[in-house]
Amino acid sequence: MKVVSTDWREKVTRTSPSAYSNFVATITDSIRQHLTPPPRLDVADWSNENRILSKLSGPEPGPYRWQRAPYQRKMLQVAGDPSVSRVVLKMAVQTGKTIVMENVVAYYIANDPSPILCVMPDNGEAKKWSQTKLEPMIADSPVLSELIKSSRARDSGNTQLKKMFPGGYIMMVGSQSEAAFRMLSIRILMLDEVDAYPVDVEGVGDPIKLARGRLSNWWNKKEIMSSTPTIKDLSRIDEEFNKTDQQHFYIMCPHCKQFQLIEWKNMVYKNKDGENDPSSARFACQFIEENIEDDEWLKDNHYYVKPDTDLNKLRKTLKKCGKESSESKKGWMLEHGVWVEHVPEAVTPGFYLPSMYSPWVSWAELAEEWTEIRTNHERMVFINSRLAQAWENLDDRIEPHDLAERVEREEYDADIIQQTNIGPQLIQHGCPTGVGILTAGIDIQEQGEGRIEIGIWGWGIGEEWWHVMSTILRGDVKQDDVWRQLAEFIRKITFPNVNGASVGCQAWCIDSGAMTDRVYRFVKSMRAEGYNVISVKGAKDVNASPLPSQPSLNRLHNVNTFHLGVNQIKSLLVPRMKFDPPGAGTMHLRLGTTLEFMQQLASERRIVKRNKVSGRPYHLWRKKNSHVRNEQFDMMVYAYGAYLLSSPTIQIDIPDLVQRIATAQPEKPVKEGDEPKETEPEQPEMGYEVLRPAPKRTNIFAGSWYQGWGDNRR
Ligand SMILES: [Zn+2]
Repeated sequence: MKVVSTDWREKVTRTSPSAYSNFVATITDSIRQHLTPPPRLDVADWSNENRILSKLSGPEPGPYRWQRAPYQRKMLQVAGDPSVSRVVLKMAVQTGKTIVMENVVAYYIANDPSPILCVMPDNGEAKKWSQTKLEPMIADSPVLSELIKSSRARDSGNTQLKKMFPGGYIMMVGSQSEAAFRMLSIRILMLDEVDAYPVDVEGVGDPIKLARGRLSNWWNKKEIMSSTPTIKDLSRIDEEFNKTDQQHFYIMCPHCKQFQLIEWKNMVYKNKDGENDPSSARFACQFIEENIEDDEWLKDNHYYVKPDTDLNKLRKTLKKCGKESSESKKGWMLEHGVWVEHVPEAVTPGFYLPSMYSPWVSWAELAEEWTEIRTNHERMVFINSRLAQAWENLDDRIEPHDLAERVEREEYDADIIQQTNIGPQLIQHGCPTGVGILTAGIDIQEQGEGRIEIGIWGWGIGEEWWHVMSTILRGDVKQDDVWRQLAEFIRKITFPNVNGASVGCQAWCIDSGAMTDRVYRFVKSMRAEGYNVISVKGAKDVNASPLPSQPSLNRLHNVNTFHLGVNQIKSLLVPRMKFDPPGAGTMHLRLGTTLEFMQQLASERRIVKRNKVSGRPYHLWRKKNSHVRNEQFDMMVYAYGAYLLSSPTIQIDIPDLVQRIATAQPEKPVKEGDEPKETEPEQPEMGYEVLRPAPKRTNIFAGSWYQGWGDNRR
């Protein structure tokens, strides 16, 4: 078939190059439509006919039905609409966001084959998505398995992260690697969990811009972006959603049949006696007399109020209701729901959906989660992941007087139980009740006469935390003496509980940012002795997760270094410093804590910066002023890193450890300067023993994941 004739080409090229390319695009479009008739079904109905949900992908395996979550229908229809080039999904967890993404991918593979790129926050997520979502989806849906050969088939050419099919391919990449975006052009771009993307990828810019650059050659390109939001003003999905038509899902009240949103403030869970009973959670209709009388409420909450509406007239047509509906009515309410654009003039469709709409999360579960929130951090997680809203209340300022008030309230036992000489110093040490694991941060200071600082912190149930002790070993860090003192400290110091039984420090994170070679040599020799001394550095990426998935290896010294996401750790710990009643997340400072110590813990504040290359805003922790010292703050962050590094290896059972430490009795009277036992201790039942006076400890890392990283011990 020859559609192109030279006549019209000459005619058009004489006008302008862009008119020509537009014209070609239109013709190509008509050829395309001519050759491949549009599928009979939209994405929603096609998914109903063709998608089988795998046992691996969720709690409800079997044929997919959009009727199970009726709000998914319009999302799918819009995502597959050829006239729509972008869709934004701001959705809570467990609302079926992933199923929507999967269905769109499946639809394009089967009906409109094209190059597809799926971007996940990191490579690990990309692999996980392929393994737990995409591959089972292909295996379980015959229409897909006919098109895509298993990557195990010898000649398939398919890998976990790239699958070929007639007319296209699908690739999955992590947002953190610039190389991932240097590929052929793609037509369908899926951006998943965009709020977890880095601000900047390896100095070359915003990963979303890089990915969009791959789309630019296509006239019929499509981008689907989704995420739960994070922090206000930093959240990408929030920013993108605000530029869309902002569709909200209005359900019908089963009593008064009036349309309204399900908002968190309209979930009630008090029983007849006025007590909280999350299991009774139900929805209260918003049409109460008070609201109907309120002009502002009517304008904000009644979607068909046009600017020139006579509100009094409207009021007369509305009924006051306020009646409650139980969970069993949710299905009916969703079935009678409708998406409404809050900004109809915007071009890009955007959908917002919190967890209260999900058929997979009960109102009772949500109410229970809400009533169990104790910390600001937990509240933020609920607001982000359940309500799909950005978190505004940062609460990131901590001042020394906040900490002083905390110290005044403390009743801190096991304050100082034992004293030991290290070099010229007398060290006083003891383990507070409630602690399950002790970890240390070590900081090397070259300035002045030089010193090594050590901060020891204890961690209990729900990450309740105690400052156990801090000390300074003075001496020129280029000379051996101060390093000898540090080794002696690590070998000698244990922390007696109230009964006098000794508790060991499980992990020592030492900053290798300064005196790097010297630190490596020290780490190597201490690890050879069996002490869990770990080289760490602060990750440069401000969005780096608190614990990196793997360390970097220095081959010369054969020492691993973990790049801790210090910026994120600070964002996690600082708001907790203010948390008050003892319990999960609360910090404890010993009676007698010095003002200098409190000033150091409160030495940094969070500021907003913009990335020079990508222009993205981000949070950064900075000293409040240049002369304030912050070593104690840094060591606390490293000690938390040491805690995180310990947790996966010992399959931590903190409540059990807390109990064991609190009740342990000394094996023999503990005297100052006790020599370590030379015999190897018996292997304890749980492969982990904290209660031992002899500091030559069981290696808790033996046989663990940590050992896998080209280890540097013996
Ligand atoms: Zn009602």
